[in-house]
Amino acid sequence: MSTRKLVVGNWKMTGTRARVHAFVESVCPALPATDVCEALVCVPFPLLPIAQAAWSGSVLRVGAQDASSATEGPSTGDVSATLIAECGANHVIVGHSERRGSHRESDSDVAAKARRVLDAGMTPIACIGETAHQRDDNRTEPVLRQQVLHLARVLQRDMGSVILAYEPLWAIGSGDSATVGMIEEVHAFIEHVITFHGVQGAGAVRTIYGGSVHPRNAASIMATPRVAGVLVGGASQRPDDFLEICRAASRCAAEAPLYGGAF
Ligand code: PEP
Repeated sequence: MSTRKLVVGNWKMTGTRARVHAFVESVCPALPATDVCEALVCVPFPLLPIAQAAWSGSVLRVGAQDASSATEGPSTGDVSATLIAECGANHVIVGHSERRGSHRESDSDVAAKARRVLDAGMTPIACIGETAHQRDDNRTEPVLRQQVLHLARVLQRDMGSVILAYEPLWAIGSGDSATVGMIEEVHAFIEHVITFHGVQGAGAVRTIYGGSVHPRNAASIMATPRVAGVLVGGASQRPDDFLEICRAASRCAAEAPLYGGAF
């Protein structure tokens, strides 16, 4: 079993060609080896083929930030998973809270998108997480249980190919991540849900954490039991910070071979 960590950048709606090329200069040549860190950046759609071509000689992989729940047809502005795969993506984020919120995406929409991503031969990174209000109301566990089990019901035996990203909404973009204690508790709960409910492929499901990860907290978050990596928004947009987080991932994998979310 490998202890390699996954570092996923999410540029959100901030990517530019210039940043793709800045990563060629300062990130790509310095990334750790893939046996300790799998590095991936999810870029806006128009940058997919550009990033794929620019980063192709390195270990940095390209992902997308969303995919349509339809295969094709009258869905103006949406992009199909098939086209995203053709443009060179390996992974696609689905159900990010910024989309669940502003685009009113339901658990069913998110599961349908994950299905399309898998059918196109890519890996879905499915975001789950509670709002501050739900946490204050002690509803974190039921909210997460419903999000995970809905996905599992739709994906059935393919659930083992999904990466779950636990992203508490109140931590995203706030500068304050969840504490290591909270992250440990929630990741243990997610593992309990998928094993207790007999989810197919449960042993293969990887769960990463997202929400204000930066170079100073990345190592302790990734050393937390059952944390297979991190989803990074703001800090992934700065080449030095992204690289530092990847280096923390590689140190973490090397120093704690029997600890943390292995995959
Ligand atoms: C995100 O966009 O998924 C995210 C976690 O953002 P940030 O790291 O900026 O909190």
